[in-house]
Amino acid sequence: MIRPIVFYPQPVLRKVASPVNEITEEVRTLAEDMVETMYDANGVGLAAPQVGVSLQLAIVDVSHDPECISYLRVNGEDASLEEICPLTFINPELELLGAKDTDVEGCLSFPDLRGDITRPFEVKATVGTLEGETLVIETDGLFARAIQHETDHLFGKLFIDRMSSARKLAIRRQLKEMQQQFG
Ligand code: ZN
Repeated sequence: MIRPIVFYPQPVLRKVASPVNEITEEVRTLAEDMVETMYDANGVGLAAPQVGVSLQLAIVDVSHDPECISYLRVNGEDASLEEICPLTFINPELELLGAKDTDVEGCLSFPDLRGDITRPFEVKATVGTLEGETLVIETDGLFARAIQHETDHLFGKLFIDRMSSARKLAIRRQLKEMQQQFG
């Protein structure tokens, strides 16, 4: 079932989400709905707070572009994006690695807004799965960026927080309009 996406400045987007302690039927349904919602909105990532649920659960799928990474290891073994996406992950812990990299990002909670965001190029993510496993995912490029963007959501952080002050100034009016429309 497609769920409505929550737009900025709804307060749930600013909350630190609760860890998922138990994989209940409700959590599974939430994850299925989120995958469907993300594809429907043509996104590459979606975090539970973006559908109004303050839980540490997120989805990423960048498998449309196999060239967007230069490596992927899952629990130490080489893997492909096709095998792992859509990745549904809970309670992530990230180790940020590599040089800083700047690329344009969007966010489903900010329709029509894009901006250059600088982040570490590589990540080592330790995440839980719906099967109760722990995965250690090492990767770079767009996959690393998307995992960081979605993990930010789980801690109440939004991509506008990471924009340059010049870009923030430039989008001030757009944010104000969103505050009036969705606040
Ligand atoms: Zn987002």
